Amino acid sequence: MSGDPALDLAGTVGSRRGEPIDVLAAPADLERWVAQCDALPERVIADSATFESALSLREAIYQLALDRVLHRAFDPGSLEIVNGAAAGPVPTIELGDAGLRISGDLPAVLVHIARSGIAVLADPHACLKECGRGGCTRIYLDRSRGARRTWCGMDECGNRVKAAAYRARKRAAATAAVRR
Ligand SMILES: [Zn+2]
Repeated sequence: MSGDPALDLAGTVGSRRGEPIDVLAAPADLERWVAQCDALPERVIADSATFESALSLREAIYQLALDRVLHRAFDPGSLEIVNGAAAGPVPTIELGDAGLRISGDLPAVLVHIARSGIAVLADPHACLKECGRGGCTRIYLDRSRGARRTWCGMDECGNRVKAAAYRARKRAAATAAVRR
């Protein structure tokens, strides 16, 4: 969704500056999230310790991505967490006619996510943006030509903003008609 699995993980919390919405409330939610991600293995088991490290990695990635969006120095504590999480056995990747197949357990998946996050955060040309829908707070990687993407995702935010703008226009037109 965000263009990178690390940013996708950070995006499992929305509305961070208001009332945060966290889709990863329990280890089973993390298992489901990994299964839904195209670039990650289809099945992993999450125990509570690995779940906790996933959440701490997630918050550290978000912090560093926000530091990039705001053009400020990286938070040292978050750097330590992400760099630490990137050191470890990585998942296996295989090329086939169906494309890339990735396999490994959850700890390996977290190493993969941390490494992917580091690659994005270290890239001076990577265009990181915060979603244009007020209150969403998700950060995504804008790979579009001319970097003109505005939303973290069309379903979640773009269409919502467009529908709200349409309703507001209709309301304004109706009010204008009554006044006439
Ligand atoms: Zn959004």
